[in-house]
Amino acid sequence: MSGKSRLLSLLGGLLLSEREVRAVRSLTSSFRLIELAPSSSGKSEGRPGDKVQVLLDGQDEVRTYTPIAWSNDGAMALLAFVHGDTPASRWAEAIEAGQRLRFLPPQRSLSMDEGPITLIGDETSLAVAAAYTRSRPGRVRSLIEIEESTDISDVANEIGLNDATIVKRSKNTPRGGALLDVIGDVRGPVGLTGGGELIQRVRTGLRERGVTDIKSKAYWIEGRRGID
Ligand SMILES: Cc1cc2nc3c(=O)[nH]c(=O)nc-3n(C[C@H](O)[C@H](O)[C@H](O)COP(=O)(O)OP(=O)(O)OC[C@H]3O[C@@H](n4cnc5c(N)ncnc54)[C@H](O)[C@@H]3O)c2cc1C
Repeated sequence: MSGKSRLLSLLGGLLLSEREVRAVRSLTSSFRLIELAPSSSGKSEGRPGDKVQVLLDGQDEVRTYTPIAWSNDGAMALLAFVHGDTPASRWAEAIEAGQRLRFLPPQRSLSMDEGPITLIGDETSLAVAAAYTRSRPGRVRSLIEIEESTDISDVANEIGLNDATIVKRSKNTPRGGALLDVIGDVRGPVGLTGGGELIQRVRTGLRERGVTDIKSKAYWIEGRRGID
């Protein structure tokens, strides 16, 4: 058990929010959509770009996800990327409707100014792109790089990201390299999320093109565990 999950388990109800898992869908073999019932107040918690730190039942670990406001009744959804034999992937594959999910209440993570924005990232960034797109229709340009092995199918449409540019990275291309080929002109602030290597490469590429208004947030780092 990690130190953080031990502490959260001990403090339990004092700190944690709890919601019923209302539905779980395997959108593809790579993505599970976890829909959480509204809180008892019926009010939607949080803003786009917030994060929730989830206690992974059965794994004794804590991992971070981006809630998407899902319906007017205050329900929210998490989109979990299943990428290998890791605690978060095992948890995402095992979770079922009817279970209770415990998490730290939403906290600020990627805060973008009003107006048109560009969001760039990888599989783990689909949710933050969806959260902003649903709250600012027509004002969010999203570019997502995925690995060749990722099963994406219709996932972007399912979460309301119909206009996202999804680009596949071949094995020989470094992370972020495929994105730099398709980004083109960038207007307005940029939010850069996902793997650390992708962030570094894209940030450098954008700066070389004169883009300076960039907010970045690493969601995972090769070789490290549960970085948040
Ligand atoms: C603010 C924030 C918001 C996030 N929102 C989401 C979200 O909405 N949906 C989502 O799916 N993820 C999201 N993430 C990323 C997610 O938290 C991590 O991918 C997850 O913690 C990894 O946990 P793990 O148990 O799978 O792997 P860990 O035990 O943390 O890591 C083991 C190894 O797996 C590899 N690894 C980890 N993540 C990935 C990955 N994504 N792709 C390829 N290899 C990886 C690394 O090499 C790592 O060393 C978010 C992270 C942060 C910080």
